[in-house]
Order: sequence, then structure tokens, then C-alpha cells
Amino acid sequence: MRIVLLGAPGSGKGTQGEKLVARYGIPKISTGDALRAAVAAGTTLGKQAKAAMDAGQLVDNSIVIGIVEERLQQADALKGFILDGFPRNTAQAEVLDGMLAKLGQPGISHAVHLHVTDEEIVRRLLERAKIEGRADDREDVIRKRIEVYNAETSPLLAYYRAQNKVQTVEGVGSMDTIFERIIGVLGG
Ligand code: ADP
Repeated sequence: MRIVLLGAPGSGKGTQGEKLVARYGIPKISTGDALRAAVAAGTTLGKQAKAAMDAGQLVDNSIVIGIVEERLQQADALKGFILDGFPRNTAQAEVLDGMLAKLGQPGISHAVHLHVTDEEIVRRLLERAKIEGRADDREDVIRKRIEVYNAETSPLLAYYRAQNKVQTVEGVGSMDTIFERIIGVLGG
């Protein structure tokens, strides 16, 4: 399986992605995690990405595409993967399709869309801010991230719908209930 997780910030992609890792034994590739690790390590790439991340804006396509291209070629990702936070705009989705073709890998098999209302998203992210203290979980930055999602990332639904790959799952309920819904649309 080659899964793309789609959904607003705070929709549960990270949590459900981890459960999918355990279930299917394929790795999760999270550009958000990779970028935060680069920022924490103070690498050149991290320095380039930090300002955009702190402002709730997207990091340059070239940076995230480089991260994903490198990761997709590692041995554990050859039999499948779960992408979390990538692609985030149509240009990235097009590059991803081209990249998989170039690497001789099968294309994306499922685009799982976790649907959660904006109101619930803001509530969750503010709650997460208290617990995890992520630099970009401040109310103004949260609102910016939702705006960027609606403008740039939600058009991806149309992109994957045109390929007949979208499965929308209601992202409200217990973690296990939502996971069962996802497994259901993936066919078990
Ligand atoms: P969220 O919880 O808001 O979905 P992520 O952890 O996926 O956030 O990403 C955090 C930040 O990292 C984003 O707001 C953005 O600045 C940057 N980022 C992550 N993935 C991408 C991507 N595919 N393209 C551009 N920027 C990205």
C-alpha cells in the first residue's frame, strides 16, 4: 500500500499514521517530523525551513521534495509507505507521481482524507499547544495553518478524486473508532 493521508492540521494524521505503521508494517514518512528534526539539529535545511514553519506557511517545495525523494528510496519504504503532511499542494502531488514513476515504484494506492471541522481543529491544536508546546501551535499561527490548508492543501482532494483514490473518513470519535473506519476503507 502506498497511502497519502490528507486532512487539516490536527485532524489526526500523525496518530492514525502510527497505527497504520503497526498494522501494515510499512513506514510513515512525515515531512513535519523531518523538518522539526532538522530545525532541532540546526542543519542548513532546518535553518531554511524554520521561518516558514514558525509563521504557519509552507516550506519551499524544493526542500520538502528533497526530503521525500531521499526517504522513498530507503529499503524499508520500497514495499509501501504512509505519507503524512506530504503532498501539501498540487505541485508536490504532481512531483510525487513523477518521482514514483521515475523510481520504478507503483503509484499512490489510496488517499485517505480525515475530515474534521475547522472549529474542532482549532480546539484540538490549542489543547495540543498546552501539552506539547510546539512552536507553531499558537492561535494566530494555527489560524494561518488552517487558512493555508484550505487554500493550498484541500485542492488536493480534487487531484486525487480525479484519480479515483479518495476515501473520506470522519475524523471525530475515539482513536480506535477512527482507525477502524480507516481500515474499513482500506479493505482490512
Ligand atoms: P500540522 O500539524 O500543522 O499538519 P506538520 O507537522 O505536518 O503540521 O507540519 C508543520 C509545518 O512544517 C507546516 O506548517 C509547514 O510549515 C511545514 N511543512 C510540513 N510538511 C510540508 C510540506 N509538504 N510542504 C511544505 N511545508 C511543509
